[in-house]
Amino acid sequence: DRKMIVAGNWKLNGDRFLVQDFLTGFADTSFTKVSPILCLPSVYLATVQDANFALGAQNVSEHTSGAFTGESSVAMLKDVNAEYVIIGHSERRELYKESNQVIAKKLSAAIDAGLTPIFCVGESLETRESGAMFDFLTDQLLSAITEIGIAGIDKCIIAYEPIWAIGTGLTATPAQAQEVHSFIREFLAEYDTDIATNTTILYGGSVNAASAPELFAQQDIDGGLVGGASLKLKEFLEICQAAE
Ligand code: 13P
Repeated sequence: DRKMIVAGNWKLNGDRFLVQDFLTGFADTSFTKVSPILCLPSVYLATVQDANFALGAQNVSEHTSGAFTGESSVAMLKDVNAEYVIIGHSERRELYKESNQVIAKKLSAAIDAGLTPIFCVGESLETRESGAMFDFLTDQLLSAITEIGIAGIDKCIIAYEPIWAIGTGLTATPAQAQEVHSFIREFLAEYDTDIATNTTILYGGSVNAASAPELFAQQDIDGGLVGGASLKLKEFLEICQAAE
């Protein structure tokens, strides 16, 4: 069976007190099927000890070291016990102009270091409505595969995050999400059917406690990448529970 994962992406939110609340709130949880991950702002990663969730970063440099002011390397993330890193989030693509090529380099650097990328893909509303959605997603996936190979994809978690559903309260319907997840899995199956079957594919975009159960019940949806609702301890625990 594929791994079920619920990953929270705090983005540029939270403080050390919220981190402490989550450490306490997760302390006596015991999930059997789902693995919870929190992708914290990088300055808080090193403050976390003995967490009952795995740690992820929200970004990483494609470079290993050098004159790159403001960046963190894969080795630094490993150093502070991060196991996962979000790569290719639409906010990085749009606001920080990260191209498919740069994202592919980041995926490669993370995999080489033994970090598991949470590799994000997803279309804008304009792309969806123009009928170019599958071509667009194919480009995003293909540029990654060209760099890291299908064996590299085997080391990734994929997250489908339609841009129009992020932070808008406009969740994709379970059927809309399932359609794309199944497309991604079929795309991977053209390279390797085992890898296609075993790759965890998360849905992201306005996931909350109300929408999670039906989304996570879809055949090709293996959990979620949660933004806003991952800042609310009780709701995030409920979302984890929905993936159990
Ligand atoms: P929201 O859950 O706030 O829509 O954010 C989704 C997201 O971008 C997670 O990476």
